[in-house]
Formats: sequence, structure tokens, C-alpha cells
Amino acid sequence: IVNQRCWAEIDLAAFERNVLGIQSALPAGVHYISVVKADAYGLGMPQIVRRLMQCGVDYFAVANVAEASEIRLMGAGWPILVLGPVLPHEMGRLIEDDLIGTVSSEEEAIRLDALGRSRGVPVKVHLKVDTGMGRLGVWHEQALKLIRKMDALAGLHISGIYTHFSSADTNPDYTALQRRRFTAVLKETGERNWLVHADNSASLESYCGDSAFNAVRMGLLQYGV
Ligand SMILES: *Cc1c(COP(=O)(O)O)cnc(C)c1O
Repeated sequence: IVNQRCWAEIDLAAFERNVLGIQSALPAGVHYISVVKADAYGLGMPQIVRRLMQCGVDYFAVANVAEASEIRLMGAGWPILVLGPVLPHEMGRLIEDDLIGTVSSEEEAIRLDALGRSRGVPVKVHLKVDTGMGRLGVWHEQALKLIRKMDALAGLHISGIYTHFSSADTNPDYTALQRRRFTAVLKETGERNWLVHADNSASLESYCGDSAFNAVRMGLLQYGV
């Protein structure tokens, strides 16, 4: 871009070392969800994602369907989770591009179920639980009720459940409270073959390897922050 006088040079080898370092620090069997939203935090999504594919990350996570579709063009089959809400007119893309959507409410579940049944393909979703962030997700005390309703919807395929910590970098007590609330939901839900994830970069220090959490969502840490 000719009229800009500053640029960032990204050392992809250093980036890869970060990712491999995180991967080898995780307990065996914990899945690595690589967060590449917002143009991979401004570093350049295509280059970063290509490198992450070589590193063998398990999942990609992005904010919206447009970002997810861009990754889908780069590789078939890679699981891609859309963290943000999917607007009604975008929902078809979840099936067309084989994406995993996020459900936070009964209304969304019902809409996606109708879509899945009309297309004859169940829509893949993860359920988001609000444990105290107040942004997205079903409130943790209402999660079980929603799960039971979703269990009865044949147009949905639930393959995961997650929550997000609001202040993992500044408030360990509140993060611990959120963790307890999420764990309580998991206990009520019972044994399922789901991807269970809560941790971002800042909460990794308090990640408990022997818990039910079998995946982490890494953003900043993989970029060297
Ligand atoms: C951005 C984001 C992450 C990654 O957080 P970092 O602090 O960058 O590791 C994880 N989960 C969700 C829902 C996010 O929006």
C-alpha cells in the first residue's frame, strides 16, 4: 500500500515456535483451537492460517461467517467455529461451508434446527454458556434447560460447549468463579462426547489439566503476547 509509511514484519518461524510451544505444554488429548479472528489480530489471516495448518492445530475460531468462509476456501475439512452470533440471513452458510455455529438462545436453536431439517443436514453447533461475562451465551443457570430442548431438535448436531472468561488477565477470583459455574453446568449435563472449552491465553495459568475441559482457545499467546 503506497501511501502508508509504516508496516509490521511478521516472523512466521517465530510464530510457529510459539504455537509448537503451546501445543507441547498442553496435556495430552487437549485440543488446540486457534483464534484467528480480525485478520488474525491484524497480522494477516491467510499467511497465519496457512502456517497454523502446517502446525496441525485442531480447530480454527473466528468472529463471524465471512471470516470462516475465507478459511474454508483455504482448506476443506478443517473444523471452523464461529464465535459470534450468526445472523438469520447468514445461517445457510453454516451448512454450505461446513462451519460450526454458536448457539446462545432458544430462538437461535429453533431457527438453526429449522434450517438443518429443511436442508436435510444437521447444523453443527457449540452451545455458549454465560458464566459472568455478560456478552454472549445462555445464562449458566438456564443452560441445562436449553440443552434439554436442543437434545430434542433433530436439525441440530451439538458437538461442543464453551464459556468465555471476562477478566482472566486481571481477576483470578472472578475467573475461578466462572470456572466453577461452568463446571457445575457440565456436571448437570452429564457425560457427552463434546468439545469442552473455556480457556483463552490469560487463563491458561489456572487451567487444570485433569478437568473436563478438553480444548483451549488460543489467541494472543500464539502471537507472542
Ligand atoms: C478472542 C477470543 C479468544 C482468544 O482470546 P486471547 O485472550 O486472545 O487468547 C477466545 N475466546 C473467545 C470467545 C474470543 O472472542
